[in-house]
Amino acid sequence: MRRLLNFIDGEFREPTSNKWLEKHSPLNDEVIYELPDSGEMDVIQAISSAAKAFEKWAATPAEERSQILNRIADLIDENIDALAMAECEDVGKPLSLARKLDVPRASQNFRFFASKILHKVETASDMDGQAVNYVLRQPLGVAGLIAPWNLPLYLMTWKIAPALATGNVAVCKPSEFTSQSCFLLADLMARAGLPKGVCNFVFGLGDPVGRTLVEHPGVPLISFTGGTKTGELVQKQSLGHFKKLSLELGGKNATIVLKDVDLKKVVPSILRASFLNQGEICLCGSRILVQEDLFEEFCEVFAEAASQLVVGDPREENTFMGPLVSKVHYKKVKSFVEIARKEDGKVLTGGEFPENLGDEFKNGYFLRPTVIKDLTQCSEIHQTEIFGPVVTVNSFKYLHEGVKWANTSPYGLSASVWTKDLSKAHKMARDLKVGTVWVNTWLKRDLRMPFGGQKASGLGREGGEDSIDFFTEKKTVCIEF
Ligand code: NAD
Repeated sequence: MRRLLNFIDGEFREPTSNKWLEKHSPLNDEVIYELPDSGEMDVIQAISSAAKAFEKWAATPAEERSQILNRIADLIDENIDALAMAECEDVGKPLSLARKLDVPRASQNFRFFASKILHKVETASDMDGQAVNYVLRQPLGVAGLIAPWNLPLYLMTWKIAPALATGNVAVCKPSEFTSQSCFLLADLMARAGLPKGVCNFVFGLGDPVGRTLVEHPGVPLISFTGGTKTGELVQKQSLGHFKKLSLELGGKNATIVLKDVDLKKVVPSILRASFLNQGEICLCGSRILVQEDLFEEFCEVFAEAASQLVVGDPREENTFMGPLVSKVHYKKVKSFVEIARKEDGKVLTGGEFPENLGDEFKNGYFLRPTVIKDLTQCSEIHQTEIFGPVVTVNSFKYLHEGVKWANTSPYGLSASVWTKDLSKAHKMARDLKVGTVWVNTWLKRDLRMPFGGQKASGLGREGGEDSIDFFTEKKTVCIEF
């Protein structure tokens, strides 16, 4: 059986306990490899290896750090086939999507921060000729980076790149469901000339690996992306340590469709927003709110289009949706469809295993894109993050009502507004309680812009200047003339 290994102090190592976890294929539930079931000792070794490397890495000139990050980006691009296949095998996502989205974004993350640190200027202030103040920015030390399974490489590199670019060292904890791409990345980083200990990877379960990282006093900063419940745990675990915490958590995002839209034009984009990556993107629009006059027509056109999406073998070029990531998650998503049925929701399409899949996939975690209407705004399905290919459709009459329903959620990650009337879009964007509003588009990400959520969707912002802020401490120096 194939085995992944931890990457600590520049070398691949077995877990000290010699315990292993099995990775099951989303395609057929078979075990495809084993990964370390790492324990506290492995995390402590990784933290001390990073701590040893810190001083030298922090003192390495920005230009040299930048060159190494650019080499990592080049190697990611050169190894797109292997990395995309790793994402496809682990997550169940279409190979074509991993090639178009996940892997290119991983190399962009490195290039973006490799360039950003070369152009950074700090401010100074003159106190009427009495004194001058300036700001020094300094890395903190060992960054604990914890990522989820839905965009494994994309999200982990979004943390690694700014952490290393600004002179920190890192211990990374990928999701236990999707460790392959980070295992490959570790090797690419070593080949790019990254000094040993600067970036370490420890594979295994959230508890103990993530927990130990969060609780360890030698890790002053934690960047966590994952579910809201785990985010809450991370907050508790870090209590009393005064760590810098960035929490990118769950979402239950509204897609607001005004009656003036051209359905032919917007439906393909709204389908993407609903079901891309099997609906397993924190930003997916899982609550569609349609203005009353258009509601019935929208439901008909949208459900028909959803029923035509190709669900199947993610390695095939024309597949739009592969299986869900794990059996546990698959069961959880399907249970929400059952709840909807009990609550008198009308399943317009989907809700079951696709009919036309070959025998080799009969144990896979496949679910057809599912569209449900007739649920009340307060129903559980409307309030809870499902994180799968399940969307609900509801109507509203006036704009303020649409905004009110969109905001009636514990989450506040993102929303999208679809209309030809930009002045209405501006007003809604102002009033929506979320971190990002897209107007007539979805998932367009500008790496220079802040990213994060309000309410139960998280704390803090990353991206562009905000990432630099998060991964550095600012120090004010005041000198009398
Ligand atoms: P999860 O919270 O179960 O796990 C996330 C990571 O935390 C994993 O690596 C896991 O092993 C680790 N973990 C688990 N317990 C821990 C603990 N006690 N201490 C420290 N780490 C621990 O999330 P998931 O199921 O992997 O991912 C899906 C969730 O992630 C969804 O809620 C989704 O919305 C969210 N997400 C958010 C964003 C965002 O940018 N806001 C992006 C992607 C995914």
